[in-house]
Amino acid sequence: MPESNAIKLATQVQYLPGIGPARAERLARLGVQTAQQLLFFFPREYEFPAPTCRIDQIQDGVACSLIGHVEDVDLITRSPGKSICNAIIANDTGAVKLLFFNQSYRAEQLIPDQRVQVSGVPRVNGLLVEFTHPKITILGEAEDLPAPEILPVYPLTEGVKQAEIRRMTRLVIDELVNDLHEVMPSALRQTGAIALSEAVESIGTELLGIVDAIRNLHFPTDEQALRRARARLIFQECFVLQLALAVRQRRLSVELKSPVLASNALIDARIKNRFPFPLTGDQKRVIDEIRKDVQRPFPMNRLLQGDVGSGKTVVAIYAMLLAVANQQQAVLMAPTEVLARQHFETLKKLLSGSKVRVGLLSGSLNARDRREVLDATASGTIDLLIGTQALLHAGVNFPQLGLCVVDEQHKFGVAQRESLRSGGEDPHYLVMSATPIPRSIAMTLFGDVDLSTLRETPPGRGAVHTYLSHQGWKDRWWKFVRERLDEGRQAYVVAPMIDSVSQADRHSALSESEAEDVSSVESVFEELCNGVLSNYRIGLLHGRMDQERKQRVMEEFHSGKLQVLVSTTVIEVGVDVSNATVMTILGAQKFGLAQLHQLRGRVSRGTHDGHVCIFTDGETQAEDHDRLKVFAETHDGFELAEADFRLRGPGDLFGKSQSGLPPMRIADLQRDQGIMSVARELAKKTVAENAFFEADEWAELRGQVFRRYGNSLDLGDLA
Ligand code: ADP
Ligand code: MG
Repeated sequence: MPESNAIKLATQVQYLPGIGPARAERLARLGVQTAQQLLFFFPREYEFPAPTCRIDQIQDGVACSLIGHVEDVDLITRSPGKSICNAIIANDTGAVKLLFFNQSYRAEQLIPDQRVQVSGVPRVNGLLVEFTHPKITILGEAEDLPAPEILPVYPLTEGVKQAEIRRMTRLVIDELVNDLHEVMPSALRQTGAIALSEAVESIGTELLGIVDAIRNLHFPTDEQALRRARARLIFQECFVLQLALAVRQRRLSVELKSPVLASNALIDARIKNRFPFPLTGDQKRVIDEIRKDVQRPFPMNRLLQGDVGSGKTVVAIYAMLLAVANQQQAVLMAPTEVLARQHFETLKKLLSGSKVRVGLLSGSLNARDRREVLDATASGTIDLLIGTQALLHAGVNFPQLGLCVVDEQHKFGVAQRESLRSGGEDPHYLVMSATPIPRSIAMTLFGDVDLSTLRETPPGRGAVHTYLSHQGWKDRWWKFVRERLDEGRQAYVVAPMIDSVSQADRHSALSESEAEDVSSVESVFEELCNGVLSNYRIGLLHGRMDQERKQRVMEEFHSGKLQVLVSTTVIEVGVDVSNATVMTILGAQKFGLAQLHQLRGRVSRGTHDGHVCIFTDGETQAEDHDRLKVFAETHDGFELAEADFRLRGPGDLFGKSQSGLPPMRIADLQRDQGIMSVARELAKKTVAENAFFEADEWAELRGQVFRRYGNSLDLGDLA
């Protein structure tokens, strides 16, 4: 025992009355070691009191409670410890039967004529109403109903019972809750409540203080108190995260230096004149956002999201040429070789006749050519360098790197900036993604990244039609494909993947991973060559082919020499052949929504309408079918991303390991978007003022920010 008998917040749980070392060890598995941690051990859900009802209106399987007298009790003991206790409870609306197995003490608890309350989930069989192991409350004769109680339901671990945790938290709350220290300045509790009044029903004029919040979180007096308690604690958690993100952003802007990329009307006109088409309104708006960012002496950290075909590359090229106009180099990193080469060709065409020098660092270069590109980059002869992400690790030396563009990035979070620097300065970063990030995620995992969005598609595009098909349709569909080919269009066939490929591997397939199922794409290829497409020129493309062959196939498809391209998801990202208007996706149930949408983007690039038909193979689960239906019906990438998030959760794409942040404890990114968004605005305002870093009233929250996120967000020394 500690010196004094009084327990304190810091007291180890093993010294709390009735706990002891064995229980303490089990509690430790739940992350609870001190009395204070028990107060912050949050219920997973709540049990609400069952409504009282008449026995003749009880419904099978619907929780209810009733009050009556014990009519009869019967205990049958089979062997030591094995017993059945039956009891009949009656009132003027009928009678019910209670069953208790191996609880012989019930026979003493339920004495005939005793008045009791019974609650539980009944089984109704004709006139017989039965409760097995209901909750029993013994009532006095004239007593009114006991106050209905909302009970917390805690996460459990082996050897710890719900009732035990309830008892322990009750005890600690009675003894210690008043010792809890308020960490929120009272002005914040007021502005917080005002700002949250739309997101949370009857929040009041002030957020609950910590004492009331914790008490009501465990043992709420009523539903409104519970709502207010949760709102206060969820807000606090969101606010601390948003403070951390705001501090990080402020720190980056103070500590990191980047070259200023200035623009003026002349530079702007010269760059825009390079493009063979006028920019869309969205492209112009995003370019303005970027121009504002890069004329500051610290790094831009901007994510450009836009559906496939929305014209992100054009925006990136603008930014790269702006760097060159400022005597800086720019680098463009693509996820695949195919895409890197495509960007290279686009840039070469666009810049023909200009002084801008473009280089391609490709994995397929021989040692000499590679050396040459590296030397030219290091001497500053190359202005724009294109390559795959592997480029990063190749020890490229840039004397004047002003901008780094990362194309089609799916995997990154706050904590992952590319590590390219030159001469003590950091380049500006522009990251592009066609997988739209749900708003809730954008506010958190990408919280210190500025977001630009292209929603408008360039004019003159055909529509895309998506068909969710079944086997019986195959003949009709292939006939349709042949008709389009006969009209001069081209077609993709995407082959399915093996079942054993996990979701995570599927995403790494984005970068030509080993996870590709080459056997299945090869057999599809054979089948089509010898079957329904035997009269057409068909090519095969997959990640395991060597670079040169891949390149040749892509070129042949580009030039129209090949009419059909049978491929794995290598073509998912960015490949641009505007004459290709039909796509067949086989084994579609094995793809994620975002991935299917990426694939579909390949046939929405020309003036002709695109057609996508998805087939499933083998057994399709109901939820796969639902997902594919959503895909066929929704053509907006942002809506799809939200749907994906709803169906799968933040999961693999934005999982913890990728975000690098500790998990949220009470807030739920999806459910609590409204609160998160309020917290974000308030946190930005708070961090913009020095008081946050200096005033005593913020000391506690400052401490929380630092303890929780100091490492993962590299916040440095807050003081
Ligand atoms: P994303 O990378 O967003 O998928 P791209 O930048 O590759 O899209 O653009 C898709 C196609 O649209 C390209 O062929 C590009 O030349 C064309 N494009 C881009 N912007 C415009 C525009 N403003 N007007 C007409 N066509 C455009
Ligand atoms: Mg692109």
